[in-house]
Amino acid sequence: MRIANLSHRLVLVSDDRTLDVETASGGRFSADPAAIFERWEEFRAWGAGVDVAGHAEAVAFDPTQLEAPSPRPRQVVGVGLNYADHAAEAGLPLPESPVVFTKFASSVAGPDIDVHLPGETVDWEAELVIVIGAGGRDIPRSDAAARIAGFTVGQDLSERTVQWQGTPAQFSMGKSYENFAPTGPSIVTLDEFDDSDRLAISATITGVDGVEARVQDSSTDQLVFGIDDLVSRLSHTIELLPGDLIFTGTPPGVGMGMNPKRYLQDGETLTTVIEGIGAIVQRFHA
Ligand code: ZN
Repeated sequence: MRIANLSHRLVLVSDDRTLDVETASGGRFSADPAAIFERWEEFRAWGAGVDVAGHAEAVAFDPTQLEAPSPRPRQVVGVGLNYADHAAEAGLPLPESPVVFTKFASSVAGPDIDVHLPGETVDWEAELVIVIGAGGRDIPRSDAAARIAGFTVGQDLSERTVQWQGTPAQFSMGKSYENFAPTGPSIVTLDEFDDSDRLAISATITGVDGVEARVQDSSTDQLVFGIDDLVSRLSHTIELLPGDLIFTGTPPGVGMGMNPKRYLQDGETLTTVIEGIGAIVQRFHA
């Protein structure tokens, strides 16, 4: 099952068509995309029985009208240094337990957006994002998948100068500017993937001259702490709440790891793709 937020209404998605959930369910489920995670199991059971492509009320849609699929998460968790090669390019040792920070929830945005550059050292981080369904505390690793609603694509945009300010540095402010947590285009349930632990992930920058540069190109099978492990470990400290987002870390190829360092510029476009989910796009302005 794929769900999305189309012009602030919850929809089921199949290829190039969407089906309005409130209409198709006869009002059983509300149109509010943020409300569905509280009733995730009931909704998932209903949605699994709906043939979107063959439904008389399914309609073509404009992908630029998609908004954040979990638009009002109460918690947005970021995980740092979760790909071994990325830790190496950052010049930092591999952590023994997850390195955790927050992106404040007001930074969450949709999949196709314009982003104002608040500084000259804004960097990209392509990330697989876990969307929490039932959630809970003290979740055993064996039960983690059942507490997840699905996966979406995210960018953990980071103003590096602000991120590394202070001693010790506190990451959260540099990662929480307006639109610094774009997500989408849809949430895909884990049963849709052939192998949900092995998804190709990439980021491409299109310059003002139109030239494309593939800057990140990896697979989620390189995660140091995998999906089930992360959910379980985090839940032993934080109660994971329906609709929460977990940014799982970025593979190598970020701008601060390049020589010379390279950051996002006015007029550039960033496209992030994860196999089986789709693409998100940001256009940057000074
Ligand atoms: Zn990150």
